[in-house]
Amino acid sequence: MSEAWLETEALDVTYGRTHAVRGVSLTVGEGEIVAVLGANGAGKTSLLRALQGAVKPSGGTIRFMGRDLTNAGSAERVRSGMMLVPEGRQIFVSMTVHENLLMGGHLRRDQSAVEKDIKAVYERFPNLAERRDMKATVLSGGEQQMLAVGRALIGRPKLMMLDEPSLGLSPLFVEKLFSLIQELNGEGLSILLVEQNTHMALEIASRAYVLELGRVTLQGAAADLAADAALAEAYLGAE
Ligand code: ATP
Repeated sequence: MSEAWLETEALDVTYGRTHAVRGVSLTVGEGEIVAVLGANGAGKTSLLRALQGAVKPSGGTIRFMGRDLTNAGSAERVRSGMMLVPEGRQIFVSMTVHENLLMGGHLRRDQSAVEKDIKAVYERFPNLAERRDMKATVLSGGEQQMLAVGRALIGRPKLMMLDEPSLGLSPLFVEKLFSLIQELNGEGLSILLVEQNTHMALEIASRAYVLELGRVTLQGAAADLAADAALAEAYLGAE
């Protein structure tokens, strides 16, 4: 495996009496796509929220590119290169497409560089360019997902964390989304992909972790997990 960029060790997240993430140790190496799989309530979103800095872990450590970010705020994590594309996209529907993209660069000082990066996003997603001055609410679910990814790209991430990006998308858009993730990865972005679409996630990931009730119960090469009978029974058959 390549050198670890992201490394969590024995990470715990608790909400009152609910222990959502239990002792999770995982790594994402430079240039890797790593999938985190698991059923509803397995703790996937809680793990990402801890990585984003939205919840404070009750135990364990988070390191990114050699720095301990366990107690860092969200802005510091973004500046270090960790960007989350949240579940449900969470774009600002009352703002225009362009304003949404600008939000992705709010921590950057060089606004002309931000404009240049937005231009690159428009080149990548012509549908967004055509709708740049329209309210984001006019976008289809797939286009909103592209906008959420585009907005994250404006933050110039090194690691993009995606929380169930395929949720609610048509099969055509799911295909497009997974090709986009592969394309971004080919351009050097490391990816932490939380998905319920186990089949497709394992197709593009190099490694994967399976979470059950907050714990990692299986981990390994994506190809091995795809061939794992227990995993197939628990998840793959359900699709
Ligand atoms: P989903 O696919 O439904 O998003 P998930 O794998 O992302 O599920 P989490 O959302 O992380 O799982 O939830 C893990 C556990 O933590 C669940 O039991 C959930 O009810 C609980 N939980 C999540 N967020 C909170 C919260 N803000 N307060 C209390 N409990 C929470």
